[in-house]
Amino acid sequence: MECRGWKEIYGQERAVGFLAEALRRDEMPHALVFTGPRGIGKSSTALLCAAALLCAAGEPDACPSCLKVARKVHPDLHLLEPEGSHILIDQVRDLEGELNIRPKESRCKVAIIDEAGTMNQEAANAFLKTLEEPPPDTFIILVAESREELLETVASRCHEVRFSALGKRDIEAFLVEEEGLDGAEAERLARLSGGIFGRALLWARSPEQAAHWGRGVELAASLRRSSLLEALEMAAAEREHINDVAREANARGAPLAPGSDELEAYVKAMDKRGGDLLRKRWEKREKREKQKRRGQAALDLFDGMSSFYRDIMLLNLMEEKGKGAGDAPLLNREWMEDLEREALHIGTEAAMRQLESLHRARKAVEANVDIGLLLDSLVLEIKGLKG
Ligand SMILES: [Zn+2]
Repeated sequence: MECRGWKEIYGQERAVGFLAEALRRDEMPHALVFTGPRGIGKSSTALLCAAALLCAAGEPDACPSCLKVARKVHPDLHLLEPEGSHILIDQVRDLEGELNIRPKESRCKVAIIDEAGTMNQEAANAFLKTLEEPPPDTFIILVAESREELLETVASRCHEVRFSALGKRDIEAFLVEEEGLDGAEAERLARLSGGIFGRALLWARSPEQAAHWGRGVELAASLRRSSLLEALEMAAAEREHINDVAREANARGAPLAPGSDELEAYVKAMDKRGGDLLRKRWEKREKREKQKRRGQAALDLFDGMSSFYRDIMLLNLMEEKGKGAGDAPLLNREWMEDLEREALHIGTEAAMRQLESLHRARKAVEANVDIGLLLDSLVLEIKGLKG
């Protein structure tokens, strides 16, 4: 596996600079919170930070210890991720128990709490005790979209490191230089990603994922003119498509899937309890990954639809101001003909209502509502037959 150290993180010089300097001076705060929008490298940075803290060399490199951190199998690395849609109190208690044991291979222990905003009140209160008096040689890194997601009492005990969304031009340049995309495609993906680097990268590397967005635009462009039956058939087709893409991705599988030779080798190298725990964790992680993959596909589809209604609002606005459509900063310039046709029929208020419906659907995906049901209900809402 290639190891690029801090160079893996793109466009977050300020955050990475602070962390590298804190490591060099041996002044890393014991409790950190990484904040910023999704998909810009917070979790990857947390892992690199953990690798550096656990590494004998003190920086993320290609040594066996760092490799284990990258694989999420290091015995002194403790990862807490939501089970279902929340981080629960039992998980926090388990973590507390583990952090009270002395480090097994390194001179310290690192806990990373991913999606820390999903801790419910009870879990957060329990976690507060650990934060107030962290066990010796323990570093805790919380990852959240913003400070506001956390209890103030939790946030105030952590040193905040901010990550920022990237500019369109930065993403575009990266896609051309590092991923080898042609200029027009890089521009399009950077435009649609809304500054979320991880999303642009995922689309660049897997075109079938990128297709969900375009299908969303297409669905929004044809819903008004279709009958109810046709609309429901389109919703069913999208559900099928999401399932197909997820199935293919799952079949390709992760290198450390439960039962894989590599994971079993790590399990074998540990004591019985540690090995069992590791395998159990990977089973949960894989289940969660699968769910996330389907969720991401649905979010891309809904965001594609939203972008279409957003462009319609913009076109209507330009029209009101007596300006030409050519000046509008549209997301879907490639769909100009459909946009202009639909803008004649879908007014600003209707477009806003559709955007609200899509916003609710987005929230429901995050709460793990069944995607098929969600699609049916969304189509009915947009056709004005519900709500
Ligand atoms: Zn190392």
